[in-house]
Amino acid sequence: MKHTKIVATIGPASESKERLREMVKAGMNVVRLNFSHGEYEWHESIINRVRELSEELQMPIAILADIQGPRIRTRVAEPFRVSTGEHVFASDSAHEGEVPDLHGHLFFLDQPEIVRDIEVDHGVLVEDGTLQFRVMKKEGALLELEAMNDGEVKNRKGVNLPDSKLSLPVITEKDRRDIRFVLDQRVDYVGMSFVGSADDVRSMRALFAEAEIPEELFPRVVVKIERKEAVKNLKEIIREADAVMVARGDLGIELPETKVAILQKEIIAESLSAVRPVIVATQMMKSMTENPRPTRAEVSDVTNAVIDHADAVMLSEESAMGKYPVETIRTMAEIIAHTEESPFDNVYNTMGMNLRSEYSVMVRSVYELAKSYEADIILLMSESGFTARLMSHFRPSSRLFVATNNRRAWNRMALMWGVDAFLFEEDADLDQIIDRLTERLLEEGKVRKGERAVLCLGRHRKSDQLQLVGVREITS
Ligand code: PEP
Repeated sequence: MKHTKIVATIGPASESKERLREMVKAGMNVVRLNFSHGEYEWHESIINRVRELSEELQMPIAILADIQGPRIRTRVAEPFRVSTGEHVFASDSAHEGEVPDLHGHLFFLDQPEIVRDIEVDHGVLVEDGTLQFRVMKKEGALLELEAMNDGEVKNRKGVNLPDSKLSLPVITEKDRRDIRFVLDQRVDYVGMSFVGSADDVRSMRALFAEAEIPEELFPRVVVKIERKEAVKNLKEIIREADAVMVARGDLGIELPETKVAILQKEIIAESLSAVRPVIVATQMMKSMTENPRPTRAEVSDVTNAVIDHADAVMLSEESAMGKYPVETIRTMAEIIAHTEESPFDNVYNTMGMNLRSEYSVMVRSVYELAKSYEADIILLMSESGFTARLMSHFRPSSRLFVATNNRRAWNRMALMWGVDAFLFEEDADLDQIIDRLTERLLEEGKVRKGERAVLCLGRHRKSDQLQLVGVREITS
């Protein structure tokens, strides 16, 4: 069993139930739906298929709805080419029609009044930063830009403004509609794009609260770290979030791409220290969108994310519209397995004790006990998934099996490093559940008679106790 989980984005290449099944079998743990694309009907059909599959395979599969956020795009009637050093003009959608067409060398940004936030000397980066401009002059709502390289300004291409402090709301009108939809669909995680502060995360939760559904049905918030502002406020954002994504695509546009690997390490370290699951995203296996084998650099990238102790690695276009979605997941799972078997994934030396609360100290003691006894297995009961998250944080070398009676927690645990979660919804007492789990693990060949297990029961039904049942040998 691999410990590091795989998140895969779904699209035309992976939407059928049969393909989704193959992807789960190849190692996909979390399904990502990108709300920059697709109609609600399509998203709903994927959610239903994934829930059915999870039931059929008796495997948790988390659903992550990635909300677009305030993405700015170009608006241009006719695409036009620019050369390095050439001057062109830009304004925003509030001023379309007012500005004369400046020899066809004019484009608009589709957010009204965004020009107010852009000053002379700021960068304006178009289409994943492949076309770069600098603001030379600002007159009212008109910007005069100098091209830093050759390229073409096309319609509806993403724009990044890394130097500007944006007054745009981090949750747009479209996002509000999408959030209402995903709350109705009971997704497990919501990805929040372009977060800049901990207040942004609080405003997302306030929106959940407006939906008037019980708090236990709220999805968990995954903050996407992709803006300069987010890197500046990293600690407070991560502490306000439930999980974290190193969104390397936009991060490498907003900040120099040459810093992305170091930022990845810093963001992962901060997430680990706050005990938040962390995903490394974007371009991990990009060449497999077209080719059946990855490049050596991609293998190295996935390997390093595992060595950095990410909880999960993510696929975007590779699984959404690539030619080899299943093979990509299988190859990624193989890279993870090889890395985790290697001496370089040295968990013991790197995972520190960052937790202060009494409960987390107790979880650590169980982890220490398992280590001292060289236990093969840790079996635990975790109702909300919190105890599982704490145990996963220590990256135990014992296999970690978690029983829960909470279907939502079961799905959420699909994102957590090393957690193999089992659902027992019937109203049994804790000892019975541990017995049933042991039986099932024996049946599935996941444990063997004679192996040594540390058994512990996490918080359950309002009792705030961690009970250590003891160290036992697995018997039939
Ligand atoms: C990213 O920028 O790396 C990312 C994951 O975000 P999106 O794919 O939504 O642009």
